[in-house]
Amino acid sequence: MSRRPAAPGRTGPGLRLLLLGVLWLAACADAPEPDTDRLTFYAFGTLVDVTLYPAGVHDLLRIESELGAELETMHGLWHAWEPGPLGRANDRLAQGEAFDAPPSILELIERAQELEALTGGLFNPALGRLVAAWGFHQDEPAGPPPAPETLAALLEAPPRMADIERDGTRLRGRHPDLRLDFGGLAKGLAVARGLEQLAELGVEHAIVNAGGDLMTMGRPAHRAWRIGIRDPRSAQVLGSVELGSGEALFTSGDYERGYEWEGERMHHVIDPRSGRPARGLTSATVLHDDPVLADAAATTLMIAGAEAWPRYAQRLGVELALVTLPDGTVELTPAIASRVEFQREVTSRIRTAEAEPAP
Ligand code: AMP
Ligand code: MG
Repeated sequence: MSRRPAAPGRTGPGLRLLLLGVLWLAACADAPEPDTDRLTFYAFGTLVDVTLYPAGVHDLLRIESELGAELETMHGLWHAWEPGPLGRANDRLAQGEAFDAPPSILELIERAQELEALTGGLFNPALGRLVAAWGFHQDEPAGPPPAPETLAALLEAPPRMADIERDGTRLRGRHPDLRLDFGGLAKGLAVARGLEQLAELGVEHAIVNAGGDLMTMGRPAHRAWRIGIRDPRSAQVLGSVELGSGEALFTSGDYERGYEWEGERMHHVIDPRSGRPARGLTSATVLHDDPVLADAAATTLMIAGAEAWPRYAQRLGVELALVTLPDGTVELTPAIASRVEFQREVTSRIRTAEAEPAP
């Protein structure tokens, strides 16, 4: 991980951009926005923006150094293609011999296994080889897409999270192609750990925002945190939602890592059924108090697509979700509909799983 020049400092009143598409808006139009301190880091391939309330009371240099070190550690532990503990675990899983797993990855393996089962395999972090074949295991994603024969081989009896046997801390892989890639859920754990560390450093009110995926702790001046939801096609704000303490808001979108190939957008969320970038939705946003679930669920809804996303939200126990379609239409669950305030004219409709045909 490299760290951008330190940027501690107090931010002024008014609207401000929480980087990469998330906007923190004044919680109440006629009240001045609370003064906050901001720190910016670079980790997980994105800017991590930390907002602290109130301004002027925290030891910013200490927080910057300790949180920076923690983010760097997590980045190293869970990186899908740089050498590190995950790469070593992947080598051993592929060999099929039992080994002691580093504790740092056990929690993610456990969550990934549970999420794979809940999503019927749409969310499958064992498919690292498939993600790599599309050119996403490199800092700058690039084509060409995999040749049809390569894709066919990868899709014939592909590895699953369930192919990892676990006995305490000992793991054994049962599939030679199994390659863990925690890109779809690790940011969830990272923002939670970041907030835990801030709490240990005496911070009570904060947001840790990793490129638009964020979690809150406490409240600014006893008000809500008001967060903008990005319009995937314009990089402007579609609407906003108020978050209380301990809420995570995660978005998966086709505008994130990707490249153009023969006029088609190839992005990093891969549908295991086709082996290709997911089609049908341009973004999926999930609000939940479990950040790992919010992260994985946003990715899953992107894969589930325009017809099936409400069913998958229900399977995952997600009540607050919103998706965008290629024509700009927004679809949302009833529970989030009452919390979203659109910032401009948007065609929207409410979807529920009950109304869906049986799977
Ligand atoms: P997100 O931005 O949270 O939607 O995560 C996208 C990342 O998840 C990709 O860069 C891959 O690392 C990983 N990923 C892609 N497809 C899948 C999938 N079907 N299941 C689980 N993780 C995936
Ligand atoms: Mg995700």
